[in-house]
Amino acid sequence: MELVIKNGTVVTANDCYKADLGISNGKVAVIAAGLTEGDEVIDAAGCLVFPGFIDPHTHMELPFMGTVSSDDFFSGTRAAACGGVTTIIDYCIQAPGETFVAALSRWKEKAEGKAVIDYGFHIAVPMIGDDLLDQMPAAVEAGVTSFKCFLAYKGTPLHIDDATLYKIIEKAKGCGALPMVHAENGDIVDILSRQLVAEGKVQPKYHVLSRPHEAEAEAVGRAIALARLGGWSVYVVHVSSRLALAKLREARDSGAAVYGETCPQYLFLAFEDYAESGFEGAKYICSPPIRERANQDHLWSGLRTGDLQAVASDHCAFNFAGQKEMGRDDFTRIPNGCPGIETMFPLLFSAGVGKGRISLNRFVELSSTASARLFGLWPQKGTVAVGSDADLVVYDPQKETTLRQKTLHSSVDYCLYEGWQITGYPVYTISRGEVLYRQGQVTPVARAGRGRYLKRRRWNGLEFPLKP
Ligand SMILES: [Zn+2]
Repeated sequence: MELVIKNGTVVTANDCYKADLGISNGKVAVIAAGLTEGDEVIDAAGCLVFPGFIDPHTHMELPFMGTVSSDDFFSGTRAAACGGVTTIIDYCIQAPGETFVAALSRWKEKAEGKAVIDYGFHIAVPMIGDDLLDQMPAAVEAGVTSFKCFLAYKGTPLHIDDATLYKIIEKAKGCGALPMVHAENGDIVDILSRQLVAEGKVQPKYHVLSRPHEAEAEAVGRAIALARLGGWSVYVVHVSSRLALAKLREARDSGAAVYGETCPQYLFLAFEDYAESGFEGAKYICSPPIRERANQDHLWSGLRTGDLQAVASDHCAFNFAGQKEMGRDDFTRIPNGCPGIETMFPLLFSAGVGKGRISLNRFVELSSTASARLFGLWPQKGTVAVGSDADLVVYDPQKETTLRQKTLHSSVDYCLYEGWQITGYPVYTISRGEVLYRQGQVTPVARAGRGRYLKRRRWNGLEFPLKP
């Protein structure tokens, strides 16, 4: 065995048991008691052994709003590994007129030679013609089995109208793909933003007024209706609002195969945290917006009941200096996005398992298994089992950590959780049997380019249960 992990407690979405793991050729080869022979032996006594975390929503080196997100595939995936993440699914944004396959090879080029952990892609679809719809099967063949449509961002090439969304849903059904939506009503956001700016309400705190709960809930409801009309599924990215969640819950209760993810910024942060902080509030600007504190409990309830299936970071880092500052005189020019890939799952563990909101098994489901199953990576990823990739996190549930920008690894000049004390943290992050992170240090194995492209399986709507 190349690596043996001894004395730990293995936790999957279904089980929790004491066992040793033997790893060979990058895979879990043996799960047994009393393993001793290994080139390297990690003593995991007192620790939990989780499947490597999966972040199904990231934006590394994304050109957006006149700048480029500050983490590239190297700094972003190295930060991910330090937070226990061993797989990301990033958004390949197709340029208008570009074929899907050309867009994909352009994004693969960005990641190859840089990514430290394994990666797959979704494709974000701009307003497209029927000729491009016909290319969806070729992208599915290449391993991209989910397509995201922006109902927001009116006036940009990303904005998708209802006819196009419906055609994408029909096409996705035909070729085995999962349609995804960024659900905010782009027309309403556009009108409200213009009105606020015209009234001189240009500070960051007005961003939230330009994107009300109702604008999100309406778009979620519409996307669900179109998916049901098309007889297919839809996955709603970054659900932030209790009203949007209610739309998902209602549809799922009536048997619709619709899914939703939420993000740490909506679970842990609130409008009240930045409303009075002047332009510093730009650090919190993302879309949908971070909402009032009373909204958080609704999202936690969605995670507990299974009406939300996944947690993703939507990691899209922009420096405060020079990038967020582009919107100093107008909140509509603040690049939308927050960093969070490294802190997401330790925060979820501390506030979720630590405070009794979710069980250990549910934590694994939300941090790994659900994303693997939704996005065609299970059981290669998303569980601890013989034959699965040895993507593992040795996690000390008692370790006390204070989050600080200067000790985190993202290429960004702030942390939204500066000074937060959390309990529980990764001690080792292991990707295909290689230790990338050990007791607070990035190892030399975590080199640029070791990550591999993941060709994902088709979505058939059958692999994921409606209720946990
Ligand atoms: Zn996003």
